[in-house]
Amino acid sequence: MSSSSDDRIETRVIHGGQAIEPVTGAVMPPVFQTSTYAQPWPARHTGYEYSRSQNPTREALERCVADLEGGCEGVAFGSGLAASATVLHTLPKGARIVCGDDVYGGTYRQLERVFRPLGHHIDYVDLSGADPVSSIPEGTDMVWLESPTNPLLKVADIRAISARAKAVGATVVVDNTFATPIFQRPLELGADLVLHSTTKYLNGHSDVVGGIVVAGDPAHAEPLRFLQNAIGAVNGPWDAWLTLRGLKTLALRMERHQQNALQIVEWLQAHPDVKAVRYPLSPADPGYAVASSQMSGFGGMVSFVLDADLARAERFCALTRIFTLAESLGGVESLLELPASMTHASVPAEERLARGIEDGLVRLSIGIEHAEDLIADLDQAIQRSRDPDSAHPPA
Ligand SMILES: *Cc1c(COP(=O)(O)O)cnc(C)c1O
Repeated sequence: MSSSSDDRIETRVIHGGQAIEPVTGAVMPPVFQTSTYAQPWPARHTGYEYSRSQNPTREALERCVADLEGGCEGVAFGSGLAASATVLHTLPKGARIVCGDDVYGGTYRQLERVFRPLGHHIDYVDLSGADPVSSIPEGTDMVWLESPTNPLLKVADIRAISARAKAVGATVVVDNTFATPIFQRPLELGADLVLHSTTKYLNGHSDVVGGIVVAGDPAHAEPLRFLQNAIGAVNGPWDAWLTLRGLKTLALRMERHQQNALQIVEWLQAHPDVKAVRYPLSPADPGYAVASSQMSGFGGMVSFVLDADLARAERFCALTRIFTLAESLGGVESLLELPASMTHASVPAEERLARGIEDGLVRLSIGIEHAEDLIADLDQAIQRSRDPDSAHPPA
């Protein structure tokens, strides 16, 4: 077993960066559940001294994801937010950051509550707008973007933004959690760093919290590798191993997530109680042109606006049987959430509306169950939610 860069991504999710374990021939990289490694002589070691600094299971995961993203090096962390914090720690004091205005809430909280007080300047701009380039002024140190975004699934032109960032000397970080390398590889589009919450699609089974950053070149990898050890927010060997196991089926899962999503989008678009559907690989979506130029598929995230007040939208979310009402996304099981009451409840109602987060906006993370079961589930919940007595909050 060995991998080649000529192999297609369906092959590389299984073999990328992995080799047969030399002592026993184990096909899976073992879980090296150890904190330290014996040294035959003071300061003479095998290359492995201490598991915060080096761990073979974590390294197998890092090599695999680096391979999938077409980067030179992966650096794995204990969560997506540990990954983003470590990236932000590479910046000098008083750095200028331009960030998309529709980023993951935890990223926003980290920028505002952890990094702004340290003296960084942060501007939030609509990087999916018609002219994202003019939003990146001279003197910018870092551009941070998600595409597609959460929960509005807006699409940013990664090529154009990366070209502009290069011209002003800024580092471009793309949070690729939603698309995964199966459908979008930002380093190939000019980005410098790609970040994932591996908690989501890469692991895919809702049983691990983790994060990873892949650098396109050694100059961007080196400070991250240093800070991974110096800050120490590393991914544990068990979690790295579970994520490697999850990755084996990433290509299969993404294909099914997407097939299901397409059927559900079509069904939602025809439903009289649905006001709007957001899914960038549908020609009706404003992000369609850019999405088709930089993505080969879109995966399983769909948002739609139920033609309903907040009370009915909440009933709808409580009435599904297969879709579980929960935050997070990217697992084999279908989840749904109501941004106005859950992930974006802390944003004042007026600002929420101005940003397009209506009370009836529902975000679906479409799993890999049978599409017709999922549609039947949404259908019964939409029907029943019309009745104000169909569901009540727990006492
Ligand atoms: C979940 C998520 C994160 C944060 O990752 P954690 O693993 O929860 O720390 C960052 N970005 C996006 C897009 C996410 O969905």
